[in-house]
Amino acid sequence: MLTDKVASLDVERIRADFPILASTLHAADDRPGVPLVYLDNAASTQRPRQVIQSIVDTYEKHYANVHRGIHWLSDQSTDLYEESRNKVRAFVNADDSGEVLFTRGTTESINLVARSWCDANLRAGDEILLTEMEHHSNIVPWQQAAERTGAVVRFLPITDDGRLDLDVLDQFLTERTRVFAVAAISNVLGTINPLETLIARAHAAGALVLVDAAQSVPHQPTDVSALGADFVAFSGHKMLGPSGVGVLYARRDLLDAMPPFLGGGSMIRKVTTSGFEPADLPSKFEAGTPPIVSAIALGAAIDYLQGQGMEAIQQHEHRLCVLAHEVLDSVGGVQRLGPSPGDKCGIVSFKLDRVHAHDVAQILDRQGIAVRAGHHCAMPLHKRLRVAASTRASFYLYNTPHEVEQLGRALEAAKSIFRRKS
Ligand code: PLP
Repeated sequence: MLTDKVASLDVERIRADFPILASTLHAADDRPGVPLVYLDNAASTQRPRQVIQSIVDTYEKHYANVHRGIHWLSDQSTDLYEESRNKVRAFVNADDSGEVLFTRGTTESINLVARSWCDANLRAGDEILLTEMEHHSNIVPWQQAAERTGAVVRFLPITDDGRLDLDVLDQFLTERTRVFAVAAISNVLGTINPLETLIARAHAAGALVLVDAAQSVPHQPTDVSALGADFVAFSGHKMLGPSGVGVLYARRDLLDAMPPFLGGGSMIRKVTTSGFEPADLPSKFEAGTPPIVSAIALGAAIDYLQGQGMEAIQQHEHRLCVLAHEVLDSVGGVQRLGPSPGDKCGIVSFKLDRVHAHDVAQILDRQGIAVRAGHHCAMPLHKRLRVAASTRASFYLYNTPHEVEQLGRALEAAKSIFRRKS
């Protein structure tokens, strides 16, 4: 809930922490560069010095393999790695750190559940419920699980303005539904889905719920215990952390009953020539050498986000979203995708009349503005909206109202270029 009591972010001070934001692009002999306006945060965010420094410090002072060596350096790096897990636990309010698994990212976290839980529990005719607004990472692993088990994948429809159609939820959540996998926030529409309602209704129908939180954990406070979700997946690189590390939160009783996802070192208690015994949580699901340095740096990213305050970040992005809607509406010829700002976060996708999304992105890029264009790994959603491709601007704590206004001016310029051409 947004309130006026939340302190505003000091965005200029925040920007000074991000070296890349001082970049200028496209400089040539005869012209100076243009400043970078980074509006592609839903794809991946930038990193503050504090996170970069954590990576340098780990390599320079603390690095060794974790949970392996009986030497001082290995103990140090193990302590930092486990300390970071505990920061993640506190950040999302999980009960215990055995419920926090480090993975390579949201995609791997979802694959872990779709492979381990589904293969052990699904039978032919069971149903997996997804929604029409999911990212491919929250579609394909379930389609693969369905191929292996004979389960059926169904898609909860959305309304024309980009919300889940709750009126038909009961037709889709049936006694055959075993798992419901849903994005907390759509990576295209920015829609914030009513998770409490969805989880309560899914549990009442006897289904487990996986929340794809790739676009929510970085941008708003998260409390997995209060939410009651069974599985929650997110990525480090979308929350100021490094790429190559992500998280799966899962209820302990579920993880205890699930078979390991990958086999190898670290995930075993004992191996003999006739078999193996898996290790306790969380090691059971962390086979091989984990992303040690990235996981430690994710802890530094969490420190940074908490230092700013997740409510303040959410509030800041909401203001930018409201402004972006005003700016896009004033350009004219812009079709916005998704609901009004009250029900969405700082992700604004749109189509510019008669101009392909890739052309829009290229023209914006010439002015230093980085946005994403295409289907944003959500082809079924674009098909449902009857839009081949869209352009997406997505904001984070370091973006400014001035940058949103620059986006508007650059779109005006794009419009006039294409008007001259046609
Ligand atoms: N789910 C959503 C909603 C996303 O936006 C993304 C990335 O854009 C993913 C899943 C996949 O995340 P990753 O590529 O970090 O695994």
